[in-house]
Amino acid sequence: MIDLHCHSHFSDGHLSPEDLLLKARLAHITCLALTDHDTIEGVDALAEAAASMPIQIITGIEISARWKKQDVHIIGLHFKKTKVLSDLIARQIESRLLRARAIGAQLEALGIDDAFDKARAIAGHERVGRLHFAELLVQSGKSADRQMAFKQYLGRGKPAYVPCAWVDMEEAVETIRASEGAAVIAHPLKYGLTRSKLHALILAFKEAGGRGIEVVSGEMTVTDIKTVAGLALRFSLSASTGSDYHGDAYSRVGLGKQALLPDNVQPIWLEWTKGIL
Ligand code: MN
Ligand code: MN
Ligand code: MN
Repeated sequence: MIDLHCHSHFSDGHLSPEDLLLKARLAHITCLALTDHDTIEGVDALAEAAASMPIQIITGIEISARWKKQDVHIIGLHFKKTKVLSDLIARQIESRLLRARAIGAQLEALGIDDAFDKARAIAGHERVGRLHFAELLVQSGKSADRQMAFKQYLGRGKPAYVPCAWVDMEEAVETIRASEGAAVIAHPLKYGLTRSKLHALILAFKEAGGRGIEVVSGEMTVTDIKTVAGLALRFSLSASTGSDYHGDAYSRVGLGKQALLPDNVQPIWLEWTKGIL
């Protein structure tokens, strides 16, 4: 099994890279990429812990990006650590922090004292994301569950929604490419785009040097997988696969437990795993 999309506690996942690795071994994963949101802090720890194990670790990141006022997620895989990449990450962390402080202020106005500090305590680090605020809303009794927290407070158009000044999609893709990695469009059906808009996004992504698309991501229906496989073929993109695992309490699909990739698409990892798998 291959899993090229998951999160550790260095972003909004629940487990340490070391614990993710243990789960990966139990799930018989042979090739794993940790793709935390806008950070590669956990990547070295994962690679070190895996050094003596029969599992290949691919460098990974999930970059939050903007394309025509739309938030999209770009996965970077198999890249080298470069200055352009660390510069981009530093800007993203700053933008995320500014947004988190603004969300905190909105939630204080709605009656949750010290919302930012509390969300930061839940995160355990400065890279506070909306999932941490969702957890805070549940803990404060304001929302029944994390999904409701987005519906009531954190989602677009809701009282604590704050847009973030993410990098442009094109810059995210070019930065990954300049770092000798492959850029992949994450979970393409999650953006709520019309067919023609999604096609326009894919064309702009390819134009910028993008290489792949997540044909299987987390929980998907057979029909959705077929749809995205069709997009991969139509636009000559390689196919990636991942669980988008955040931890047992956050994810319906376990690490490495996503559906199988259809066999008519070109797996993006083939050139990285030659002779190993
Ligand atoms: Mn997440
Ligand atoms: Mn995502
Ligand atoms: Mn993700």
